[in-house]
Amino acid sequence: MRYAILGDIHSNVEALEAVLDALDGERVSTVLCTGDIVGYGAAPRECIRLVRELSPHLLVGGNHDWAAAGRLELEYFNPYAREAIEWTRSVLDPTELAWLGAHPALATDGSVTVAHGTIHDPEAFDYLQSAYDAHLSFAHLKTPYAFVGHSHVPVTFRSGAAVTYVLGDLVELGDAAQAVMNVGSVGQPRDEDPRAAYGVFDDDARVLRIERVPYDVEAAVARIRRARLPEFLGDRLRIGR
Ligand code: ZN
Repeated sequence: MRYAILGDIHSNVEALEAVLDALDGERVSTVLCTGDIVGYGAAPRECIRLVRELSPHLLVGGNHDWAAAGRLELEYFNPYAREAIEWTRSVLDPTELAWLGAHPALATDGSVTVAHGTIHDPEAFDYLQSAYDAHLSFAHLKTPYAFVGHSHVPVTFRSGAAVTYVLGDLVELGDAAQAVMNVGSVGQPRDEDPRAAYGVFDDDARVLRIERVPYDVEAAVARIRRARLPEFLGDRLRIGR
């Protein structure tokens, strides 16, 4: 089976459309979404509509989605993020906000697991960034494969005698019993590559391929400026940080 994985869209519809166009050329049977459809960017309504049309097989709520929906306190967010969440709330209708809050922080179909933060404590929205974090998550993971988001930086953790991590665009799982994979962010990459990121995972070959897609960054920046959101939220898209 070939899975497409996308997440951390963050109301960047220019990036999302570029990824969806690229996905048209991929023979994937199943789409997984790791959450954070909104927050930071200025096209929440457009992104919600596209994700609903895409109808992912598994879809989780991210911390920004839950905060916009009133399911998470704003005090945990930095001032830029908080301002964007408040703006997002002001432009979405009650149906859209309810939809954002309706998805769990972790979802599984018995073969694959999806969470926004970690597997071991998904509702805490912690970052899964170190081998130790991954070790905690593997202890709770009941499927061979899991996908997470939240850090906006692609990385794969493999279980074995020791937990190892792999960077790079082509990741072979080899003989690892389990893997937790982060394919990076569609709408706000933070690995110094401003291009939108998504992943394609083949569970027969046990290979993850991370794709990067150029998109109209300036259009997304201009949209952020028109919405009077913090300038910084546009600037960071140009440098991918
Ligand atoms: Zn995010």
